[in-house]
Amino acid sequence: ADGIRFDNVSFSYHPDRPILKNVSFTVPAGKKVAIVGPSGAGKSTIARLLFRFYEANEGDIYIGDHAVRDLTQDSLRAAIGVVPQDTVLFNDTLQENIRYGRPDASEQEILDASQHAMLSAFIEKLPKGYNTLVGERGLKVSGGEKQRIAIARTLLKRPRIFLFDESTSSLDSRTEQAINQSLQKIARDHTTLMIAHRLSTVVDCDEIIVLEEGEIVERGSHDDLLKQS
Ligand code: ADP
Ligand code: ADP
Repeated sequence: ADGIRFDNVSFSYHPDRPILKNVSFTVPAGKKVAIVGPSGAGKSTIARLLFRFYEANEGDIYIGDHAVRDLTQDSLRAAIGVVPQDTVLFNDTLQENIRYGRPDASEQEILDASQHAMLSAFIEKLPKGYNTLVGERGLKVSGGEKQRIAIARTLLKRPRIFLFDESTSSLDSRTEQAINQSLQKIARDHTTLMIAHRLSTVVDCDEIIVLEEGEIVERGSHDDLLKQS
């Protein structure tokens, strides 16, 4: 597995307004690190730099031994699997919605990914196998079910790195906990960067980094941070 390293990264969208200031952190290979901070802190900007949507003004970003600036956006998309805050389902079967991004996936692989995403209970409720329409005019799915579909979709791509970008922030806290349990299990041996705005959603990380106004203001385990606050 590859780790992620941000080495003194500074970035601004406009020259007169710095957004990230000397941000350094490491997600060691196979570990799980969370970036937590209020809205506007720069969390999504970190994700956008990782995908090379923008280039850092200063500093370097590495995935394994490779500088991100030497990698193509395609190879970054293949390496990093994102579970976004809001998943777009299209009007097709559940299978096709999960298959999205890996057209060659076999039925068995789709089933395995569904099970890992803890979608089985949901699938069992479906009238006829799980070959049922979801999306606008089809089966109504809850926010939690939608996120599980997103997780299965990402798992199926077998990325080397997981990025959970506010993956559960639109859910109620009970559903959020349930989804987090499946994420926890899935992330166990994968390099994982988790972006969240609440400390309560990132309990099981190896390290939590607190970002405010583009600067890292605290870092430590969940317990460390609770003691400090
Ligand atoms: P977070 O994800 O922590 O909410 P963002 O990384 O989205 O924060 O945004 C950090 C800051 O950068 C905010 O002040 C936001 O308004 C600004 N910002 C985000 N995207 C852009 C952009 N494309 N152009 C200019 N400013 C932006
Ligand atoms: P995200 O959920 O990724 O944080 P936002 O809702 O903050 O996205 O922003 C949606 C889009 O608008 C993004 O593509 C982002 O780059 C852009 N954006 C965000 N803030 C600003 C800003 N202050 N000025 C210009 N574009 C922005």
